[in-house]
Amino acid sequence: MQETLINIKDLKKSQELYQKACELIPGGVNSPVRSFKSVELEPIFISKAKGQYIWDVDQNKYLDFVNSWGALIHGHLANEVTESIQNALAKGISYGASHENEIELAQLVVNSFPSIEKVRLVNSGTEAVMTAIRLARAYTNRNKIIKFSGCYHGHADVVLSMSGSGVSTLGLPGSAGVTKNTASETITLPYNNIANLEILLSKYPKEIAAIIVEPVVGNCGVIPPSENFLQSLRDLSTKYKCLLIFDEVITGFRLSKGGAQLKYKIKSDLTTLGKIIGGGMPIGAVGGKKEIMNLLAPLGTVYQAGTLSGNPLSVACGIATLKLLNEETYTYLESTTNYLCDEMKKISLDTGVKIQINKAGSMFSIFFADSFVYDYESAKKSNTQKFIRFFQNMLSQGIYWAPSQFESNFVSTALKKEDLEYTLKAFKKSILEI
Ligand SMILES: *Cc1c(COP(=O)(O)O)cnc(C)c1O
Repeated sequence: MQETLINIKDLKKSQELYQKACELIPGGVNSPVRSFKSVELEPIFISKAKGQYIWDVDQNKYLDFVNSWGALIHGHLANEVTESIQNALAKGISYGASHENEIELAQLVVNSFPSIEKVRLVNSGTEAVMTAIRLARAYTNRNKIIKFSGCYHGHADVVLSMSGSGVSTLGLPGSAGVTKNTASETITLPYNNIANLEILLSKYPKEIAAIIVEPVVGNCGVIPPSENFLQSLRDLSTKYKCLLIFDEVITGFRLSKGGAQLKYKIKSDLTTLGKIIGGGMPIGAVGGKKEIMNLLAPLGTVYQAGTLSGNPLSVACGIATLKLLNEETYTYLESTTNYLCDEMKKISLDTGVKIQINKAGSMFSIFFADSFVYDYESAKKSNTQKFIRFFQNMLSQGIYWAPSQFESNFVSTALKKEDLEYTLKAFKKSILEI
């Protein structure tokens, strides 16, 4: 990428479109973090994308570290993915009926995840989580859910309290419109803290239906699990007979082919997937042990349905994306991310600008914090003003970083060595100017 200096506060076409959008769409956006509110800018309107790049409507080019929030593990428009969608498109957009590729995608998921015996496709991560919780409640005949602050599990009522990026970026404790009764069914605890969980479980030994967790948090910046955290969750869930739900909407197929559960060798009872399994098309999935999954209608009494579920285009896009993943993919992604993070660390030491770099596999984030970030509270100690200046500086140099202190960046296989060098140069300049 050529050196560039974009006047990000004066993107004429984006501004024009944003004004029009605001008249018709609440806040001008269809998902809050896109508004760029937390980085004190107006949203950029994207006109096209290819490989590691996206372009805005004012014809500026950016290196993409968002990659549709991690869904695009191969970057934009990998040939195999495009072809697969085109082949599917030639055969119809949607049938609202069964088709063969649904079996192939289900097989790819079941083969990859040791804990998944059966899987149901839905249309989003939110739906996957809703269904996982409904299943857990039906299976255990209990009501309460435990979640961890900073983890985001989609926007269903039951998981909206203390839920990371989108919500915390906007400074909301939860959401209006969620009834007190619903909110009272969910207990939120600090991540990476087993002592609190043990106390709670001993207080409610027979009321907890499920513990839901992002095995590596991606939604308040990256926060990896401390040693034994996931194993303790497994042990305590078994002891208290509640289900352990791993929300692997981000980590599934990103940290390894079998997600965080394969990487950390812990089996959950239910797993939710999304993002990468659709390769950028709308999708979600819930999977787990047969015994639990068989409770879903039409076999069982837990209702779940979807007009567009398993739709041929999402499924084709997902299959092609997953088939491109192999050992080398993960080696490349990890060594690329390690190199980038190690070099950023060196730069921060050289320049004396204090930052915390957290990473897991090919997801990483930089906190403008003085001490180690291991949960939501420690993440919140970050200096968001510094982040805003850093973000704006990176953006003006053509680096499209996640537009919030509390989001993860994602490395794609489309990123090249020279892109990393370019990024590091921009990084050095940016942190010196915060
Ligand atoms: C993105 C995300 C969701 C929600 O998925 P949508 O497809 O946006 O509904 C749920 N859980 C996690 C961990 C996510 O990152």
